[in-house]
Amino acid sequence: MPRTTRPEYDAVIIGSGPNGLSAAVALAREGWKTLVVEAADTIGGGTRTKELTLPGFHHDVCSAVHPTGIASPFFRSLKLEDHGLRWMHPEVPLAHPLDGGRAAVLHRSLDETADGLGRDRIAYRVLFESLVEHAQVLYPSIFTPIGIPRHPVLMARFGIPAAMPAEWLARSLFTSDEARALFAGNAAHCVLPLHHLLTSAIGVLLQLSAHAVGWPVAEGGSQSIASALASVLKKHDGEIVCGWPVKTMAELPAARAYLFDTSPAVMSRISGEALPHGYRQRLAAYRHGPGIFKVDYALSQPVPWTHEACRKAGTVHVGGTLDEIAASERDAFEGRHSERPFILVGQQSLADPTRAPAGKHTLWAYCHVPAGSTVDMEQRITSHIERFAPGFRDTILARHTMNCPQVEAYNMNYLGGDIVGGMADVTQILTRPVARLNPYSTPNPKLFICSASTPPAGGVHGMCGFNAANAVLRRVVF
Ligand SMILES: Cc1cc2nc3c(=O)[nH]c(=O)nc-3n(C[C@H](O)[C@H](O)[C@H](O)COP(=O)(O)OP(=O)(O)OC[C@H]3O[C@@H](n4cnc5c(N)ncnc54)[C@H](O)[C@@H]3O)c2cc1C
Repeated sequence: MPRTTRPEYDAVIIGSGPNGLSAAVALAREGWKTLVVEAADTIGGGTRTKELTLPGFHHDVCSAVHPTGIASPFFRSLKLEDHGLRWMHPEVPLAHPLDGGRAAVLHRSLDETADGLGRDRIAYRVLFESLVEHAQVLYPSIFTPIGIPRHPVLMARFGIPAAMPAEWLARSLFTSDEARALFAGNAAHCVLPLHHLLTSAIGVLLQLSAHAVGWPVAEGGSQSIASALASVLKKHDGEIVCGWPVKTMAELPAARAYLFDTSPAVMSRISGEALPHGYRQRLAAYRHGPGIFKVDYALSQPVPWTHEACRKAGTVHVGGTLDEIAASERDAFEGRHSERPFILVGQQSLADPTRAPAGKHTLWAYCHVPAGSTVDMEQRITSHIERFAPGFRDTILARHTMNCPQVEAYNMNYLGGDIVGGMADVTQILTRPVARLNPYSTPNPKLFICSASTPPAGGVHGMCGFNAANAVLRRVVF
């Protein structure tokens, strides 16, 4: 067993992703002696930054853009800015180029966005205006497990459109290519075919957040989020040990509670006889969705996008129309590799000059592919960016790629390359990781799960960890 300072703790947390660190902080600030154990050599899980291509180019290995981070009620309560975190906002949160030099543009301002959508201006306002106005009231309900809402009318304004299939909602509400494509691109973050129920939820959340809080990146890279959380933990005397891939419960020091920032499968493996056979079978039956193929580029100059807004945007959705995006997402789900995949592109160095040497830039891009895929999508991604940025290829100095097995090797939570902690379809979003009144608890009163495989699911917000810590505080008998 690697060295820890004490033989026993109040809580041991397995995994130092944003949820593991958040769970640790939430317990440590209540006076609990906490220990976080991490398999990798550095903390952070999906919030790490590395020089993946060339010296001086700092790439976000996983998460990059943080609307859920800046909106998170728990992160806000911690005042992470006092621990070195600085949110950097791009001039434009998101641009979505279309053929013919057109683009849909998601601005910080709701008015500016709506006006840019022409004949869909009123429909856009009807969907988003009151959600944006009451976002700070809405976020705590969105980020907790489904229960009796504290603001039922407001929650219904969010929940009714959120429950709809994104393809249906976009076609019913909007008539322009721009408004439909903008919504489809945001909804596609759910990694499901867009005709599925509930696929609008992430689209509505992301678009309202662009107006309510923005889509920032973290100065210096997403690693700064993990470092800030670790700094808060240290302030409360929490401990972290890296380089410790936990395999069995027997390796861990005694504790009153164990929290798993892991996939259900890893929790089942580690816990062994500590959990009943039937419960472990239910964990093993947890379903994962498509994976990703990712490319990080080092660039000699900014991407030469045809549309001016794309040159100012922190995120660019490359995928064309609603029909094209829907087809690409269906392909990944049904085991095919799209010829022109929908790509999520991050231009962090536009808002944060620390990411690359002066005048040079980083670019972060990934597309969804069938789970476990080893197909090299780099050329397809590069060509698809060229569709809206002719000459892009000539700006590339170096690139680094990750296919699904490499994503999983990097972080064992990303099974088959699934980066969102498990399929978020209608059954599993309501019952993750298994159907249970308190989703964070297990039949063993000492064992809890706190990863993105619990509500409110994937993204860097720490709310799975915070909610799990609250479950621990309510449940464990002193
Ligand atoms: C390519 C990519 C892009 C993404 N983009 C975004 C984005 O832009 N914005 C956003 O909000 N989210 C994004 N995400 C999703 C986000 O990173 C995750 O949802 C989030 O990190 C989940 O946090 P977590 O704490 O649940 O788990 P993780 O961040 O996965 O952390 C889990 C940690 O537990 C450790 N661990 C697992 N098993 C063990 C074990 N047996 N022993 C010890 N340690 C163990 C792992 O090594 C890991 O460090 C992205 C993810 C990826 C991969």
